[in-house]
Amino acid sequence: MTVERETEKCALCAKDTGVRVDTPIFMRMHFIEGSGQLCEDCYREMVKNRPWHNLA
Ligand SMILES: [Zn+2]
Repeated sequence: MTVERETEKCALCAKDTGVRVDTPIFMRMHFIEGSGQLCEDCYREMVKNRPWHNLA
């Protein structure tokens, strides 16, 4: 039996980000405060389009 760590899903597309839920925020890749954990693809879109602050 394998012990699987729970991983975060992307806040936008719900894809598995592979980031463990117990990873400290400051160590996470592709994490946006206010939005949450994103996958690499969504993060790139966010950064590209900037006003991601305004997303609900
Ligand atoms: Zn995503």
